[in-house]
Amino acid sequence: MNDPRDLLRAYLRQRRELGEEELVLDRLSPSEVAALLADAPPAPALTRAPAERVAAPSARVEAAPRAVPGEPETHRRAGAPVPGSTPHPPSPRAPAAYVSAEEISSLPVLSQVREIALGCPRCGLAKTRTHVVFGEGRETADVMVVGEAPGQEEDRSGRPFVGRAGKLLDLLLLSSGFAREDVYICNVLKCRPPQNRNPQPDEVDACSPYLLRQVELVQPRVILAFGAFAAQTLLGTDVSIGKLRGTRQQYRGVPLVPTYHPAACLRHPAWVRSVWEDLQRARDVLDAA
Ligand code: SF4
Repeated sequence: MNDPRDLLRAYLRQRRELGEEELVLDRLSPSEVAALLADAPPAPALTRAPAERVAAPSARVEAAPRAVPGEPETHRRAGAPVPGSTPHPPSPRAPAAYVSAEEISSLPVLSQVREIALGCPRCGLAKTRTHVVFGEGRETADVMVVGEAPGQEEDRSGRPFVGRAGKLLDLLLLSSGFAREDVYICNVLKCRPPQNRNPQPDEVDACSPYLLRQVELVQPRVILAFGAFAAQTLLGTDVSIGKLRGTRQQYRGVPLVPTYHPAACLRHPAWVRSVWEDLQRARDVLDAA
């Protein structure tokens, strides 16, 4: 068993067989978890068969790296590019010609949508970004992860969900039978708002054709909306994420599971279990179809 992911799965399975309902990383240091997740080779493709369930991560996942006060919610992990997906990171590009929402909605493949997005001038964030963070992952994924917007590390790397929150996201996904390589990951906004301020309505409006086309082309069977902004934006509501999570939702006909953002879990470790439970709901959606 040389694959680090197999080792992690075996560890999780063992804890479950011991009757433990909580995943406690007392035998894995944060650096070991990070190494497992960062250095692991690609996992097998996600199948549609019911996945093995493992013990729920608990608040003691706070053994993972701690959040730094003031850290924006949208700072993710910096790992290797995802095999079998769109190439990353992109080179910084100057804004190109304006492309209408209608044109974006008619683009036939993700690579073309991405190409247009990388030079997008549709809102003011084009002037302050370093990279457009279009998204990455399996382009035929059953599961689409949607976050809020790029943070500093994402803006620098051109990749979504990098940094410590991204590591926790990877662990949470893996513990629920979803390898990062098998999901498609993107944000509502493709460019970083300065100082990680909240996205503005006009920016969301300008950027939404990209997300909509991503959903149409990937055709996920379930969407995981991480964080209040992603859930509220996709659902068109101002209901709090605390009230949204646990409810059945849809985005344009696709089942949507609202849950807490991994960065928020780093600040509130007790929420990790809630996220894990929400991931089981996503699992149920896939298994029921
Ligand atoms: S945030 Fe979206 S709409 Fe605005 S410039 Fe970036 S890609 Fe274009």
